Amino acid sequence: MPTTRFAPSPTGYLHLGHAFAALTAARSGSRFLVRIEDIDATRCRPEYETAIFEDLAWLGLSWELPVLRQSYRMAAYAAALERLKAEELVYPCFCTRAEIAEEIARAGDAPHGPDGALYPGTCRHLSAAERSEKIAAGTPYALRLDAAKATRVVGPLSFAEYGAGPDGETGRIMVDPLLFGDVVLARKETPSAYHLAVVVDDAFQGVDRVTRGHDLFAAAHIQRVLQALLGLPEPAYAHHLLILDETGKKFSKRDRAVTLRALRQSGATADDIIRRVFSPRRR
Ligand code: GLU
Repeated sequence: MPTTRFAPSPTGYLHLGHAFAALTAARSGSRFLVRIEDIDATRCRPEYETAIFEDLAWLGLSWELPVLRQSYRMAAYAAALERLKAEELVYPCFCTRAEIAEEIARAGDAPHGPDGALYPGTCRHLSAAERSEKIAAGTPYALRLDAAKATRVVGPLSFAEYGAGPDGETGRIMVDPLLFGDVVLARKETPSAYHLAVVVDDAFQGVDRVTRGHDLFAAAHIQRVLQALLGLPEPAYAHHLLILDETGKKFSKRDRAVTLRALRQSGATADDIIRRVFSPRRR
């Protein structure tokens, strides 16, 4: 039986979009795990984490224990980073956000990825001496993947898509390892970025079917690269449709009215929610 997971971040209350994601994963005929993605300590709150379990149980879901919390897994992410460092697949980037924005503006027609303009690669060209000097001076830095080098190391890659991407893509999808450019894998305040933590944890938990919204379809490209670099097994992906609000936008944690708790307080039952998220109006 495949293993899948629902992996919310406790940065707000679960809403209808989460209900659909969790129900889709739980009903996929797989072992169902819940993972708390609480790396970003500045945004995560314990009350939201408690609320996640309450809301999922209210929806009638049960999941296999233990629940993995990413804040407990920093040593595993650090070990993965060490491995990438040893192979010189990551480099320190000392640029501030403002410096990156300036450099991008100067370059004019900078290439864009799913998260906006790609990092222009400024710090990739620093010498070993310049890097050591900045580190010794205490300049804060992020660690970025050297995407061009990673591309050469991993060779052609693909991933299996059993759901569908935003454009309905299914089957074996060719990976574009440069899609996110030299993506950040760690920062001082967040010792592991999302992509790294997810691949390390999916492998650790034996997740071989990643069920999640197709807003994360592009992420599979870079996550597949990291799996290959780290020698981790390749999961299959089942990206699902997103349910949208009346204006055609994704539900947001900021919109209190569609949180499961607000709907429950206004008298909705779990069955009402299930009917609503599985009605054909979703896209
Ligand atoms: N934690 C991510 C989110 O809340 C989901 C990560 C994933 O499913 O890979 O959007």
